Amino acid sequence: NAPTSHLIQDTPASAALLNRARAVTPGGVNSPVRAFRAVGGTPRFIAEAKGPWLTDVDGNRYVDLICSWGPMILGHAHPEVMAAVQEAATHGFSFGTPSENEVLLAEEIVRRVAPVEQVRLVSSGTEATMSALRLARGATGRSKVVKFAGCYHGHVDPLLAAAGSGVATFALPDSAGVPASSAHETIVLPYNDVAALEAAFVEHGDQIACVITEASPGNMGVVPPAAGFTDALRRVTREHGALLISDEVMTGFRCSAAGWYGLEGEPEGGAPDLFTFGKVMGGGFPAAAFGGSADLMSRLAPEGPVYQAGTLSGNPVATAAGLATLRGCTPEVYDRLDAVAHTVADAASEALAAAGVSHTVQWAGSMFSVFVRDGAVRDYEDAKAQDHAAYGRFFHEMLRRGVHLPPSSYEAWFVSASHDDDAVAHVLDALPHAATAAS
Ligand code: PLP
Repeated sequence: NAPTSHLIQDTPASAALLNRARAVTPGGVNSPVRAFRAVGGTPRFIAEAKGPWLTDVDGNRYVDLICSWGPMILGHAHPEVMAAVQEAATHGFSFGTPSENEVLLAEEIVRRVAPVEQVRLVSSGTEATMSALRLARGATGRSKVVKFAGCYHGHVDPLLAAAGSGVATFALPDSAGVPASSAHETIVLPYNDVAALEAAFVEHGDQIACVITEASPGNMGVVPPAAGFTDALRRVTREHGALLISDEVMTGFRCSAAGWYGLEGEPEGGAPDLFTFGKVMGGGFPAAAFGGSADLMSRLAPEGPVYQAGTLSGNPVATAAGLATLRGCTPEVYDRLDAVAHTVADAASEALAAAGVSHTVQWAGSMFSVFVRDGAVRDYEDAKAQDHAAYGRFFHEMLRRGVHLPPSSYEAWFVSASHDDDAVAHVLDALPHAATAAS
């Protein structure tokens, strides 16, 4: 048992900052899930992050199992990424002209993900999916889009219906402010349901520009595609002349060097037409991308008629961070991620079982979720049917013992290659207490 003196009871500096923040920012946060609304309590204002550890403004330390929601695959303030960022910054912050790092980062992505011949760099995952959608519509001359309930693709108007992540956390069916004309073009289907997919294409096939899917969803918790589901997506889109967009913003370069694509392999019938990337490829800085065949990408301005642009796209500091991060993602890094993730997940499962808490652990590479419920989670309805209150108690006991989990039961747990044995031991010590709290 951790000595009581190690328990984190007081967070006055975070509480004070939250009060100030609430006066000047909605909910006091710049991204909704950070507000802890689903689990209650005071979000921690982080002053410093190094390796696997976060330190809050009260001086409390936490093992980080959020990792900035995915990007920090090598750990915080990794020395090589730090050196690359510092070096890049000495040459200036933003040029608004082409620069070498953009070429190097694009080459690095193209080299890893075989079907991607060209990428366009953007600054967020939202921009990547928004632009991929526009390209798919421009290339097909069609307007309808198929998405799956529980998948989150950023806060793109037509993709906010039945979205995962924060939209799920706050139990929103969709978002206010999305015009009916935009929502009307979106067909939302249950995930892992081939019959529903086929039926939608029978009815609307000639109007559907694309199907967009998380390569392996992580935003309703981790819900991997059932055997044959990705093949069915490829087959049905091909049959009807629609494009398939694989959103690898979360899975890209995390599940393997080539993301989920590298892990699952090419679907029967061929690769997706477009991929979106973000998170890891920015190394903690705002960099994201979308890409596909050179032919399809040539529809983008200045080559083609589909317009897309960005003042900070390909930013030299962000691309330096992304490049150093991708170069740092060696086979040993992926081995370490797998080892840490399995040690933590196995221990969580053991602790919950010992406390009599029904649960299910699901995986996508080293990404995993612990669902407080019995049985497999195949879609959003299954993901909703968790004991969210029990997760909240589990979360808070972990937090009190210095482990920062995602503050929502609809999220993946992320580890980094910097999670050393000391950090892992700290997590393992906390788990039995948290499991008891959840029971
Ligand atoms: N797509 C997926 C699969 C994501 O997980 C996210 C963010 O979590 C996005 C898109 C949006 O990315 P960003 O938050 O960088 O806009």
